[in-house]
Amino acid sequence: MRPTRAGRRAGLAMALVGGLAVATTAATALGTDLTGHGDARRLDGDQTSSIKHEVKGGAARNVILLIGDGMGDSEITLARDYQYGAAGRLPGIDALPLTGQYTTYSLDRSNGRPDYVTDSAASGSGWATGTKTYNGAISVDVDGDAQRSLLEIARANGLRTGDVTTAELQDATPAVQVAHVSERGCYAPSSTTKKCPENALENGGAGSITEQLLGARADVTLGGGAASFRETAKAGQWQGKTLLDQAKARGYQVVTDAAGLAKVATADQKTPVLGLFADGNFATRWSGPLATHTGGAETPVRCTANPALPATQPKLADMTSKAISLLDDRGAKKGFFLQVEGASIDKQDHAANPCGQIGETVDLDEAVQAALDFAKKDGHTLVVVTADHGHSSQIVYPGTTTPGLTRTLVTADDQPLTVAYGTADEGGSQDHTGTQVRVAGYGPRAANVVGLTDQTDLFFTIRDALRLDADKPAPEEATVDNVNVSDGARLKGRVTVKVTTNVEPKYTYIELNQGGRWLTDNTKAPGSTQAGKRPTLVLDTRDYPDGAYQLKIDVVGHDGVTSEKVVHFTIANHR
Ligand SMILES: [Zn+2]
Repeated sequence: MRPTRAGRRAGLAMALVGGLAVATTAATALGTDLTGHGDARRLDGDQTSSIKHEVKGGAARNVILLIGDGMGDSEITLARDYQYGAAGRLPGIDALPLTGQYTTYSLDRSNGRPDYVTDSAASGSGWATGTKTYNGAISVDVDGDAQRSLLEIARANGLRTGDVTTAELQDATPAVQVAHVSERGCYAPSSTTKKCPENALENGGAGSITEQLLGARADVTLGGGAASFRETAKAGQWQGKTLLDQAKARGYQVVTDAAGLAKVATADQKTPVLGLFADGNFATRWSGPLATHTGGAETPVRCTANPALPATQPKLADMTSKAISLLDDRGAKKGFFLQVEGASIDKQDHAANPCGQIGETVDLDEAVQAALDFAKKDGHTLVVVTADHGHSSQIVYPGTTTPGLTRTLVTADDQPLTVAYGTADEGGSQDHTGTQVRVAGYGPRAANVVGLTDQTDLFFTIRDALRLDADKPAPEEATVDNVNVSDGARLKGRVTVKVTTNVEPKYTYIELNQGGRWLTDNTKAPGSTQAGKRPTLVLDTRDYPDGAYQLKIDVVGHDGVTSEKVVHFTIANHR
């Protein structure tokens, strides 16, 4: 006898009593009867006018780009099925109105032809710079030449910028916006010397990813990877100092936990914020058993909260909301560019850990909700949600095993769902796949994600939506423009040394010395000034015997970079 619809509802209600998951939305999924004509529809009628309404041209003031690393369609479906049921909806990721697919392939470095499976470095370099490149490249082309990133271009155009991740800040996706190295593993000075010697500071390169990140000077940089900051610079102005000390010397506000981040009130080019919330990658939100050779046929399980999750580690949604609130300045002429990455969808997929992977997808989804909430209120923000590549997890017939690894979960529908991984054996690392991935948009110019595009199209979509001039030079370092005492001058009586700097520095130090011996400076001499673009040193030259002297002028920028100028002159009161 076929059960009646009422009987099915009762059965569903009983099934609910048996389940206790980390997911809390089971009631919604179980309360939905899908058996009737049209019951499973997602549309509530003709979409023509609502889609027309979502297609907006013009320019965007802000762009928020959210990346689910390794979040192919299979990974999205899996998270939806588990957390909200097959007929449910991820409230963030599934809410963007305009959707397309993009190709993610990389290039073979040896011949420039397609490499069908990309890694995060090549794919991220593609949308960050608009130039396709080889696996392992961080924003350099197949010849190793640096390609400018969206974050660098946005900063040069006067926008505020942010780079947020749950991975190490040196990991490929966050790194492509702030660094240019030939091999993704060049996190810190020691690894750079070994793996990318041409990029090492001591060899005249731009330095490791961490050192370049400090120079890129995003207003907001939040993630893991604190370990690399404990290494010491091998060359340059900060030689012998740790990269963390360098960050502090360059004006960064460093915070290390959620409470510290909550207290940050401003983030700008004078005092950017650097959040280092883990030594390596963030701990995952959820845990559960790995897929194994027999897992698919074993008792179905529900995911649980990860007991090892430190309470001090901020959630991705909290970091996203905080970054938005720090970057959004209605009083400013320009808006902001923010990249946000949910990194461990990929990393848990590599580990054949379905619960770890789903929890990270839900974590990213919460960040997408935070971004959409802001964009809807703001009205001038383009939000794009996409992935860098697909991954190995597949949804297979419930309760089955495969030649690979499987694990069966109980979903919000109170139904068994079996996840299979088939690109590596137990204990190995499951690999990426070459599938196209979803790209979804909301806001001005979101129509440019519709249809089939390539990940490099995203660079141009965002550049043009923000009306960025890709050739605009980066903000200048503070230097001396002019000194009213010229080289070889003869001075007598009272003199005010007037210095003019090109941009407003943090401070300027003007020192009088003779043969390398300090005599006075503008922090000591009465009437002198240190701040602003026109610092002064007031001297009464009659306090010093006639002879040869030097003015040593050090301009210290807000980025901690010092530039020096020396003027040689003569005091001649008696000749
Ligand atoms: Zn990966």
